[in-house]
Amino acid sequence: MEKIAMTTPLVEMDGDEMTRVLWQMIKDELLLPFIDLKTEYYDLGLKNRNDTDDRVTVESAEATLRLGVAVKCATITPNAARVDEFKLRKMYKSPNGTIRAILNGTVFRTPIIVKGISPCVGGWKEPITIARHAYGDVYQNVEEKVSAGDKAELVITHADGTKEVRLIHDFAEGDGIVQSVHNMNSSIESFARSCFNYALDQKKDLWFGAKDTISKQYDHTFKDIFAEVFEKEYKDKFKDAGIEYFYSLIDDIVARIMKSKGGMIWACKNYDGDVMSDMISSAFGSLAMMTSVLVSPSGVYEFEAAHGTVQRHYYKHLAGEETSTNSVATIFAWTGALRKRGELDGINALVKFANKLELATTLTIEEGKMTKDLAMITSFSDTVTLNSHDFIRAVRKTLENLI
Ligand code: NAP
Ligand code: MG
Repeated sequence: MEKIAMTTPLVEMDGDEMTRVLWQMIKDELLLPFIDLKTEYYDLGLKNRNDTDDRVTVESAEATLRLGVAVKCATITPNAARVDEFKLRKMYKSPNGTIRAILNGTVFRTPIIVKGISPCVGGWKEPITIARHAYGDVYQNVEEKVSAGDKAELVITHADGTKEVRLIHDFAEGDGIVQSVHNMNSSIESFARSCFNYALDQKKDLWFGAKDTISKQYDHTFKDIFAEVFEKEYKDKFKDAGIEYFYSLIDDIVARIMKSKGGMIWACKNYDGDVMSDMISSAFGSLAMMTSVLVSPSGVYEFEAAHGTVQRHYYKHLAGEETSTNSVATIFAWTGALRKRGELDGINALVKFANKLELATTLTIEEGKMTKDLAMITSFSDTVTLNSHDFIRAVRKTLENLI
């Protein structure tokens, strides 16, 4: 069989621990035999980040802006224990944070649905994609504990030096707490554009909720900016695509989501997205079955699995023990990137291959062959639990039958 040719390379960001092991297996078993794979390779493994003083992370993000599509393996975000373990020169920032700041993007997380692993919510038939705004609010807050007799005020110093002071609370009665948060119109606009673009890309409805009735300035600004950007730039495109933008109060959105059959993209403010994405992933079954894509407002894509490096499994692997680590989300990161590359470069064979590999992956599970994490939660009774490598080999077999 002739291998599928590529024109533009993908940005390939290698990573750490167990997912780095899966990464190589996926390439060897599922990609290289079928595709004349072209990638620009960046090693984001922690050792190389330390060796390059984290330049490699910045360079991989810049390459993504240049080439348009990246696929990323999970990476370690260093903490104090990792600084000791890897003898790091410093506690480097999260690579995902660094990449997101350079691409100025929004993260969309979507569960992978297979028969035999049913969502907790019976009515959900299609995946729900969560889009989380990743700037401001409580994540960049300023907060204080205050004592009885203190007075908390909001002070705005205007450009001309004049001050506007508003009372937040007079703590005459006793001790308390106070917090201030901010956001930027430009960031909200970028978020809105990323969401509208991704909805058009996926041909799915976009829902957004905030608490504008209570927060008449702050949350209302989110609502207004979304409405304005939609009206000016997207209304006609949505109409042509046959999709809808729907805004409502966040509590109404939550209630409607529970009763929906799924299939929409749900844009969330930073905190709502933090909380709701964990709810959605556990309700759909498993973090190991969740894909993630970072989309910039200019239309650059970076695909990855939503889970981490699965450290516990890696230490078993290093000790020579068998592992049964789920590679599905990492396979889907590759298929997402290959499909997007194929679409952008007009290589239909690449798009078809990505679709077939996804189908082969879900079919393999639906035939009862799966890793341990899924075997523990499936409704199927006669399943075969496979180790990390054998699962990928089983997908290869299914794929060969499809091709
Ligand atoms: P994790 O790697 O997501 O794993 C947590 C646990 O979830 C695992 O121990 C395993 O449970 C289960 N799990 C996750 N993915 C799985 C898979 N593919 N197959 C089977 N089970 C899976 O999170 P973590 O252990 O908190 O973090 C490890 C490292 O990953 C950290 O250094 C963190 O900084 C990094 N991280 C990176 C990213 C990213 O690059 N996007 C995201 C999150 C975390 P059992 O042990 O019970 O089997
Ligand atoms: Mg969270």
